[in-house]
Amino acid sequence: MSASFSPEARSQKFGQDEGEGIIRCDACPVLCRIRPGRSGACARYANDSGRLVRTDPAIVLARTLDAGGRAVAFAEGAWDGKLLDPSRAFVTGIGAGTTYPDYKPAPFIVGAEHDGVETVTVVTEGMFSYCGVKVKIDTDRHLGPEAAAVRAQGEQVGHVTTAEYGSQMLSLGGVRHLTGGSKKEGTVTCETLLALCAGEAVELTIDGGHAVIVQAGQAPIVDGTPERRMRVGCGSATVGIFAQQWLGEADEVIVVDDHITGVLSEHQAGKVLGMRATGIRVRGRRSTPGRYFQVAAPGLGWGGTDITDPLAIIETIDPKRAWPGLRLLLTSTTGEDALWCVLDEQLRPIPAEMPAKVRTVVERIGENCEPSLCTVLFMAGAGGSLRAGVTGNPVLLTRSVAAGETRVTMGGAPCYVWPGGGITVMADVLRLPGNAFGYVPTPALVAPIEFTLPRRLYERLGGHMEEIVPLAALLAGLGDQLRVEGWNADNPWPFAPP
Ligand code: SF4
Repeated sequence: MSASFSPEARSQKFGQDEGEGIIRCDACPVLCRIRPGRSGACARYANDSGRLVRTDPAIVLARTLDAGGRAVAFAEGAWDGKLLDPSRAFVTGIGAGTTYPDYKPAPFIVGAEHDGVETVTVVTEGMFSYCGVKVKIDTDRHLGPEAAAVRAQGEQVGHVTTAEYGSQMLSLGGVRHLTGGSKKEGTVTCETLLALCAGEAVELTIDGGHAVIVQAGQAPIVDGTPERRMRVGCGSATVGIFAQQWLGEADEVIVVDDHITGVLSEHQAGKVLGMRATGIRVRGRRSTPGRYFQVAAPGLGWGGTDITDPLAIIETIDPKRAWPGLRLLLTSTTGEDALWCVLDEQLRPIPAEMPAKVRTVVERIGENCEPSLCTVLFMAGAGGSLRAGVTGNPVLLTRSVAAGETRVTMGGAPCYVWPGGGITVMADVLRLPGNAFGYVPTPALVAPIEFTLPRRLYERLGGHMEEIVPLAALLAGLGDQLRVEGWNADNPWPFAPP
């Protein structure tokens, strides 16, 4: 283990002296030649008086001492590493730099003792050509057909993927858009991913669909209208949830939904409650009793359909079963749209004032809706050459990660590691510290990544043991290249026992 760490030695990991004060940055394949006082194409590296420096400070996260581990706000700026208790510190990949190509050991290989266990954290900024974001948009509204192109600045940056329960999903980025199209497509894709990962708002348009402004942690804005509520469930689920509360107050309830429209009296819930059949038949394909598919085209109307006149959903009213005075409620799955009708002598539904008790239940649908949000998960493959910066035998790292022995974090945020081959990870961008992501003009995204494991295991994996620097020495040696921020208490501490 190396007991010391110096900024000079760090600089040599990234660059080569080309003479006349020029440094060639070799932290990515662009290989910028950087003159004194200038920075490279990505602005992440600069020539500081003949020394190649990372322009952003290395971010170290510190936990508070109290058992709850609440995050504390540290003063921005330089931090005297000596004042920082190493047992509470976690060195992130943010600002660490990239030792491309990765036959060179990672920028920081940090040794520390936690709860009596000698640990190693291998810290780097990975360059990801294989990366993208999965975007979950909590809305029923139809944003565009499945598999439709999603565009930013007119360039295709991804596609609409399968809708989930109450959410529309987009898959953006990926190696094909970064590398397989025109230069502009790659550049715009990289910019779009970077903005989304930084928590910025991005306007996307969907072929054959609508425009949506997406921002992690914020409500989506569809064609200029902010979404408010995530539906309580599909139409069938809404019938199931509120059937008991409608019993005796309405004779029929139709919950309009683009996927599964529910009809209460015919639905299992209505049957169990002993409701009388009303003979009201809605459009679409009957799946099972009281559950109808394809009642209308998808759209921005009621329940994610194109319906703006809810009575258009009624196909027939059977005069043998329906009766004058029949009380009918039509509602969307968020309760934002609702109509109360009573059948007249000709069995026509006539809109009427909604009784207070029925309105209370409709309002309860709204009360049970969660706020509509956008979620952005960064997804990347870390199974490539990056692993050589960790160990001389990369497959051992892959196996160790798959076995759960080596923890993978991104800027301290927990990662979901996909089962199967490779190291394919996903992390919620809002759980990383701010400004955690960068880019290089190849184009590719740069993201922090840390591998934490017991020291004895690291040795068994063929790790770069001679490169391990004690955490205290690293903190002291980084000097003004270090910034300390508070640990996000929502994130599991990487050194906690499994
Ligand atoms: S683009 Fe950035 S990382 Fe790549 S060589 Fe230039 S300065 Fe270095």
